[in-house]
Amino acid sequence: MSRAVLVAGLAVVLAMSAGQANADNAPSYAPLTIPLQLDQVPGKPIYYSVGNPGVPGKDNEGNTSNAGLVVTSDGVAVFDALGTPSLGWALLQEIRKITDKPVRYVIASHYHADHIYGLQAFKDHSGALIVAQERAGEYKENEETADEKADQRLDQRRGVLFPWVDDKTRVVPPDITFKERKTIVLGDRRLTLLSAGPAHSSSDMMMMVEPDGVLFAGDIVQNSRIPFMNSDDVSTTHWLAALSEVEKLQPKFIVPGHGKPSTEAAKAIAFTRDYIQYVRDAMTGAVQNWTDFDTAYARTDWSKYKDMPAFANNNRGNAYRIYLELEQAQFNGDKP
Ligand SMILES: [Zn+2]
Repeated sequence: MSRAVLVAGLAVVLAMSAGQANADNAPSYAPLTIPLQLDQVPGKPIYYSVGNPGVPGKDNEGNTSNAGLVVTSDGVAVFDALGTPSLGWALLQEIRKITDKPVRYVIASHYHADHIYGLQAFKDHSGALIVAQERAGEYKENEETADEKADQRLDQRRGVLFPWVDDKTRVVPPDITFKERKTIVLGDRRLTLLSAGPAHSSSDMMMMVEPDGVLFAGDIVQNSRIPFMNSDDVSTTHWLAALSEVEKLQPKFIVPGHGKPSTEAAKAIAFTRDYIQYVRDAMTGAVQNWTDFDTAYARTDWSKYKDMPAFANNNRGNAYRIYLELEQAQFNGDKP
């Protein structure tokens, strides 16, 4: 083999190991017409993109959730992969503009379509390992789960998000899962992954980046907006425990799963915790006194929350789930 061929071969291997696109391995994902934009956490090697507020559709090309990344001395960790393979690919290209370090991990806040369809681009065009809470493994394309129904959701997105979601779009399972807590030390950064589900979904988790104090919260911390917790197997007990764990880490900056990132992480955490606690307190009395849900809901003073975004959509369902959760806890507690 000539030296020129060896050198050329080495260059190809290097380019591939860095996950770089070239003419030969460029994928056929439908291009976006609205470019993906990354912002930087002030003074930190940490970046994020902010999704549009609406539901996934042609107007926003499926870009409705947030994603982020941490550039360390030993590679990149990505948090969430966005809602289409095209968006995942765009995120990978934006990362390439910032650093040529390899993408080591893509961490999924939870397995819901708007956060995971972009995993395909990372799986096929980088060496990244996909990390998620263990229950993410239940989310399979051809199976029904108690949570979001993966097959129905994919069909729906192939309709409303074509051509960005098409016949080649698939659900990529996690490579590494954890149950309660996992620490990843990557170069000069420590990533603490904390399970917080089942809450908004069965596999919710949050990621704390240290020493920067940046929290990627997924969909379970919301600020001045009523969170969605009307999922079949919601556990506010587990959710509250995760919030107090993360509060102890004293985050300085928060990137939520949707909506604007903020320096007021403590405020957002306190808002979410106070809301859950308020609903639990209201429903606890009802469950203890055998009051039916409709009566308990009507008797509760909701004035503190009723003018907040998503109250009309989410509050009653949330209260009902919490009522059922507390009723179940009481039932279990009553057993001899
Ligand atoms: Zn979401």
